[in-house]
Amino acid sequence: MPWCDACDRFWTVDAVAGQDDCPNCGTILARPASDEHPAAPWHFKLLMVAVLAYLGWRAIQLLAWLVGRL
Ligand SMILES: [Zn+2]
Repeated sequence: MPWCDACDRFWTVDAVAGQDDCPNCGTILARPASDEHPAAPWHFKLLMVAVLAYLGWRAIQLLAWLVGRL
């Protein structure tokens, strides 16, 4: 999100409309060094794998329980 030091406010990407200067005062805006969508960390991916494995196992248990009740 672009930040203007002179106006002391953030601008939305739509307000800046692809230009590098502030729509209010014309100052060149400082953009964040990193990209807007950083990659997910490895421990988040590990958590997702563990959650999917757990839910898959619980689904198997549900099917076994349902078959046992028939
Ligand atoms: Zn400004």
